[in-house]
Amino acid sequence: MLEQRGRCDASCDFMLESDTSPIGLVTRRYPGIVILKPYNTCPQICVYCQRNWEIEQAMEPGALAPEAEIEGAINWIREHPAVSEVLVTGGDPLAMSTKKIGQILRRVAAIPHVDLIRIGSRTPVTMSMRISEDLVALLAGLREPGRREILLVTHVEHPCEVTPEMVAAVDRLRRAGIAVYNQLVYTFFVSRRFEAAALRRLLRRCGIDPYYTFIPKGKDETSAYRVPIARLLQEQKEEARLLPGTRRTDEAVLNVPGLGKNYLRARQHRDILSILPDGSRVYEFHPWEKNVVAQRTYVSVDVPVLDYLQRLALIGEDPADYASIWYYS
Ligand code: SF4
Repeated sequence: MLEQRGRCDASCDFMLESDTSPIGLVTRRYPGIVILKPYNTCPQICVYCQRNWEIEQAMEPGALAPEAEIEGAINWIREHPAVSEVLVTGGDPLAMSTKKIGQILRRVAAIPHVDLIRIGSRTPVTMSMRISEDLVALLAGLREPGRREILLVTHVEHPCEVTPEMVAAVDRLRRAGIAVYNQLVYTFFVSRRFEAAALRRLLRRCGIDPYYTFIPKGKDETSAYRVPIARLLQEQKEEARLLPGTRRTDEAVLNVPGLGKNYLRARQHRDILSILPDGSRVYEFHPWEKNVVAQRTYVSVDVPVLDYLQRLALIGEDPADYASIWYYS
């Protein structure tokens, strides 16, 4: 059983990425997909970022990995034919120059067994002009329908982040045949009733597919941002479920350190071990490959539901509007 690591003591790697890193710059949690991290910073540093233990400053000089290390990582992917999908992320890879990201993506695309390249980037939201015609042409040039696709996963947190510039950037990508998906981190500040539902509707109008909704986890520094699992389950049932199926395409997940995504709707993938005196639920999460290969479980302490309701009251919400949360906890 893995224990929750909430503190930066021996290692700040609270997601245990080093446990699933076969070579520098590569993380592999699933047989068919790897994460490639050539650029280790971002135009912004989100407090809840699961990789911010690796990122020291926004746009930090020297964040680009040495060429030999990038080459080694790409060679490793080339030598592993089970890998069909490469997620290029970071940091934010679109903070690199178009020339540099182009050099990396072309080498990945040239690997015969890679048939999907995914780019994780928040620049469509934070710096929409980065989605320039040059960049779009580069990405579109890597597509080979029927053979290899390229798509972009972005990170819109709230309807207020959707600007005309962002809509235009997404439209440029989609006109070039590049699908755009969204990952929402379900923080306290976006967890109020119907906010995620409003975002889903707006994203769909912009041509973005809601993809994952993540429960933030782990670190003490993020405690003010965290939401109990029960609230996300309530949101999925009582708010998302009211939307047409084409708009509630996101999957509610907890990204379990060392184990990969735990689909929260799959009740059999977790147990409640106990309830602490402060009301925190202690969950044991089971790995996605349980009963396929031997794997440890992961124990995590959730946010107390009452504490969450009291925080909502402090920002003007009526806890009575959330009373059914106890049904999900
Ligand atoms: S935008 Fe994404 S990669 Fe950058 S700090 Fe935020 S969560 Fe991390």
